[in-house]
Order: sequence, then C-alpha cells, then structure tokens
Amino acid sequence: MKSSKDMYRNILFLIFILFFINNVNALEYSTIHITRSLAYDAQKASVNQKTIDDIVRIFSWKIDFNRDLKDGDRFIVVNKKHSAPNALIYISGKKRIAVFSYISKDGRLNYYDINGKTLYPTFLKAPLKYKRISSKFQLKRFHPILKTWLPHRAVDYAARYNTPVHATADGIVKYRKTMNALGKAIYITHGSNYLTVYAHLSRFARGLKTSSKVRRGQVIGYVGSTGRSTGPHLHYELRYKNKRKNPLTWRIPKQKRVAKFDLKRFQKRAKSILHNL
Ligand SMILES: [Zn+2]
Repeated sequence: MKSSKDMYRNILFLIFILFFINNVNALEYSTIHITRSLAYDAQKASVNQKTIDDIVRIFSWKIDFNRDLKDGDRFIVVNKKHSAPNALIYISGKKRIAVFSYISKDGRLNYYDINGKTLYPTFLKAPLKYKRISSKFQLKRFHPILKTWLPHRAVDYAARYNTPVHATADGIVKYRKTMNALGKAIYITHGSNYLTVYAHLSRFARGLKTSSKVRRGQVIGYVGSTGRSTGPHLHYELRYKNKRKNPLTWRIPKQKRVAKFDLKRFQKRAKSILHNL
C-alpha cells in the first residue's frame, strides 16, 4: 500500500519535472552580443540569416544600424530554433525595444510591441497643410525654369511661405543640407526600404541634424522657395528601395495592430517572456 503511494508520488514528481523542463525549453533564447557588427556577432551566436534579416527589417524603424549599435548592446532572440522566433529584443543601456510574434487572422506572422502595434507606422497622407497640388508625379513635365520636358517623380504642394512641414513617418534624418536644384532639403529614411525627401525649404526646424530621429508628424522645416523653384512650395518625394514612387498612389503598408479580442492574451504572453529572460 505504502509503496504504491510512493510510486504515485514519484510519477507526479516526474510529471512535474517534465512539465518544468518543457517550459524552460519553451523559453530558450540566444543573445547576440554586439562587438563588431550585427552580421558578424549574430553568426557567432549561431542565429540564422532569416532572423538576422528580420532583426534589421523590424528594428530599422527605430534604430540606425550604421550609427546606433555600440559595444555591449544586445539582441535577444527568443526561441531561435523555431523558424520564427517568439520575440526579438534589443537592449542598449537602459533602452529596450521588444517585439513579439503574433499571427493575425489572415495567417500572417508579424512582430508587435507590448502595446500590440507594429514598429512600422502608418505614413501621413501629406507632409503639410497645402493649398493645392501644383505638380503631380508625372513622367513628362514642362519645366518652368529649364524650359524643357523632364520627368517629375515627386509631388509639389503649393503652400504659403513658412508653412510647417512634417515628417510623414518615424525615421532618421539622412541629409539636412542645401543642395543645388532642391535648395534646402531633408532626406529621411524610414525602416530599411523607405525614404522621403522634402525640398525647397525656407529653413530647417531648430535642432534638426543629420542622424536625428524624428517622429511621424514632427515639424522638420518650413515651406520656402530655395533652389530651382518659381514660388513657395514643397517638393515631396517617396522612395521605395531607392526608386521614386508616386506618393499619392503608392500603397505603403499601414501599421498593424493585434486584434482587440486577442490583445490581453498577447500582452500576458509578452510580459511572461520578458519576465522569464
Ligand atoms: Zn517638385
């Protein structure tokens, strides 16, 4: 009688241990310690290429991989053995950016922050309050100054002098300088594929520099007529993978959110992942 009770207890214990081991396994993770470059250090941590690509694609919305990565920064890949990790976490000093996998109703896996939002935002429809569009995206336009037919792969918004110009999405300032035809111009990169250009500005916003981080809607400069321009307007370009696209028609992905009914469960899971690191 006594021995069968013992056996029962042992089995329970064994089940408990198995459950425990299983749970620990469920949160296996690897850490990429930045010493040289993401590519080099990720390989050393035996993180696969697909995950490295995902890290660059996802975190490029928030960090400049050419400038921000420092010795001692870390990327944590949770469950690296799975084809798609459960979570990706960037830690730099006190700063932490964490995203968690979630499969939406359409069956797509994406990464969302703790609030259930993708790091990529929805772009603003236009970078300013304008009076009218004075020149659309077109392959042939008679140039009023050069007096010849040229492509115009941008949108010109006519507006009053010094109308504030807003960044259309979160990003990093690539250039902030005076150029020939574009006059005072700002280039902003958004993630690894998008770039926007704002030209003919009268002046730049105070404090804005090359490699400044900007938020969607932030004022970056003011409408002017610098460079090759006949009157106050904003020349706005949208580039995708280095090609100019029509900002009025190009379909930029919109920010995604975790479905409302799933948000609590998603956040609980995210918190437990962070807790168990
Ligand atoms: Zn233009």
